[in-house]
Amino acid sequence: MNFATQAIHAGQGADPSTGATVIPIHPSTTFTQRAIGEHQGFEYSRTGNPTRAALESCLAALEGAKHGVAFASGSAAGAAVLSQLRPGDHLIAGEDLYGGTYRQLERLYRPLGVETTYVDLRHTDDLGAAFTPRTRLLWLETPTNPLLQLADIAALAAEAEARGVPVVVDNTFATPYLQQPLRLGATLVVHSTTKYIGGHSDVVGGAVLTNSDAWAEKLRFYQNAAGAVPSPFDAWLTLRGVKTLALRMARHCDNALRLAHFLAAHPAVAAVYYPGLPSHPQHALALRQMPQGRGGMLSFVPRGGVAAAERFIARTRIISFAESLGGVESLLCHPATMTHAAIPAEERARRGISDALLRLSVGIEDAEDLQAEIAAALEEG
Ligand SMILES: *Cc1c(COP(=O)(O)O)cnc(C)c1O
Repeated sequence: MNFATQAIHAGQGADPSTGATVIPIHPSTTFTQRAIGEHQGFEYSRTGNPTRAALESCLAALEGAKHGVAFASGSAAGAAVLSQLRPGDHLIAGEDLYGGTYRQLERLYRPLGVETTYVDLRHTDDLGAAFTPRTRLLWLETPTNPLLQLADIAALAAEAEARGVPVVVDNTFATPYLQQPLRLGATLVVHSTTKYIGGHSDVVGGAVLTNSDAWAEKLRFYQNAAGAVPSPFDAWLTLRGVKTLALRMARHCDNALRLAHFLAAHPAVAAVYYPGLPSHPQHALALRQMPQGRGGMLSFVPRGGVAAAERFIARTRIISFAESLGGVESLLCHPATMTHAAIPAEERARRGISDALLRLSVGIEDAEDLQAEIAAALEEG
């Protein structure tokens, strides 16, 4: 089955007891057993639930994975992976990292004796020096937030594999429609399904996908033991969303590319960050690693600095000024005060995150409407 078909059918055959074509929401916390040790695969809903199992199978199929393990949020999914680290262990992470992941590494794990080295993963050459004999994971995102920088998954995975270090890719921005890290050598994929996979800004969730039986066993143990599982309703809503992932992503990419070109040519715009623009320094890698499209996220800096950014924010109507991303509706965010406020100003400046930078999660509205609104919001005066 190809991607668009899997998104609709994987893990979601007709319900054997009723023929229901759409997977039912199974709120039951418990499952009646026929005799001692005789059940139909489910005993207690924290441990396993049929609606959640359907979501896990579907997401695994989309990433080309053998195993899928769903969690109550993307943060809980990430924590499940990090829970495998022990005091003295070392981890290498991309420098441009989701703020919540950085917070877990620094505030939850560093105090427990798990140390992280941050590396600019645009340059594979910088990686080698960061490995230590205690390095247990390489954690990366591509494209990154908010500067849409890329990491070459295959090249980094080859380097890490040579040292026996598994690679984790947070694939939230790209989604498996655009990029399938396990096929490029990663061992684990982490998702915040809250974003593109759910796709409608109405359900928080996460998942880890892997082909490794050993990792799957540890993750399932942790899922049951720590208990941060999605509710059956949330699992169902996420499945409902993922069915249209292929359609949505194609439209997100088309709209984002069009707006990126429009912004790049606009005299009131100082810089545009979008991997689909030929001017992006890693455009060639983007074409190779994300063959179906370059994603729905872009960032830009208006020429008039923070005042112009403020004016832009005040003028948009269709585009909501809000955190999060990946929904059908366009969302605008100011990283310096929202997603990246926890990073000190000098560090933001060092990384090239201007205080005037605006991040746009381009929705699937009519592109002409979005462009007209952006044009009006960029007008001087
Ligand atoms: C949102 C996000 C997360 C965290 O997911 P939650 O569902 O909000 O817990 C992790 N990584 C990336 C890249 C994200 O955008």
